[in-house]
Amino acid sequence: MHMFDAPGEPRFPPYAYRDLEVVSVRKHRGLIRVVLGGKALADLTVPLPAAWVKVFLPGPSGDVGRAYTVRRFDPVRQLLEIDVVRRRQGGALSNWIYERLAVGDHLHVAGPRGGVEPTAQADWHLLLGDETALPAIASMVEAGLPGRSIALVEVPFPDDAYDENPLIQFLFRGRAANDEPSYLETALDSLPTLPGRGRVWIAGEAAVVKRLKRAAVDRWGPSGVTVHAAGYWKMGQTDYKDDALVTG
Ligand SMILES: Cc1cc2nc3c(=O)[nH]c(=O)nc-3n(C[C@H](O)[C@H](O)[C@H](O)COP(=O)(O)OP(=O)(O)OC[C@H]3O[C@@H](n4cnc5c(N)ncnc54)[C@H](O)[C@@H]3O)c2cc1C
Repeated sequence: MHMFDAPGEPRFPPYAYRDLEVVSVRKHRGLIRVVLGGKALADLTVPLPAAWVKVFLPGPSGDVGRAYTVRRFDPVRQLLEIDVVRRRQGGALSNWIYERLAVGDHLHVAGPRGGVEPTAQADWHLLLGDETALPAIASMVEAGLPGRSIALVEVPFPDDAYDENPLIQFLFRGRAANDEPSYLETALDSLPTLPGRGRVWIAGEAAVVKRLKRAAVDRWGPSGVTVHAAGYWKMGQTDYKDDALVTG
């Protein structure tokens, strides 16, 4: 269960593998927005923002699966949208999606899992992440978290700031690798005092996330702020899995 999920009955049924058809693939600089559809979505529910699915690519030695956030889900039209970041060094799934995936192809998807439960017991939310966390942050901001929300996302260039929600502030790291000291760390340090009960949510490269988490706990831990942090990927490591997430 995700740290922000409410205790009680698990919200998510056991993994069901769904065979989905690619309805559209839109490339924009380092990003690929993929819309998946099909009857297999008829019984899908995505109850929480920032929920994620596992997307599978069939391979010679078994399926290669990676986690992607549900950016949008339209239960009426049965469409599921994911935003895939393409990296410079390449990655098995993101590269394949970038270079090969075409309308009419089929992908297997399992989930969803995770997500952030909005709770009235917060006066403010601070959401921090890199481009892999942007779909989650954008979906949380759109869902409307209670209290004041500050959302800071570090991406390479202004063109990569594709989600134009005015509540999201973008920081640009240029060509620096995204595990190098991050502008998010400086931004966190220079945030004003946030009064009341707060929740901090952090995701991105594992080492950066660890440093941000430490800084957030140092700063707000004593005042009872909840800090949730998850590495969404790790520099130099294929198919990284953070213990903070149940990947199923
Ligand atoms: C809960 C969750 C939600 C996620 N949501 C999204 C999402 O919505 N969109 C998205 O794009 N990603 C998302 N991710 C991250 C994504 O799953 C990883 O980036 C994954 O490693 C990509 O798989 P790959 O096959 O392309 O690369 P892998 O084969 O896993 O890795 C190959 C190499 O690429 C490097 N690498 C992996 N990711 C990056 C990166 N972002 N930048 C630079 N180098 C990288 C690795 O360090 C490794 O050296 C999410 C992860 C989690 C856990």
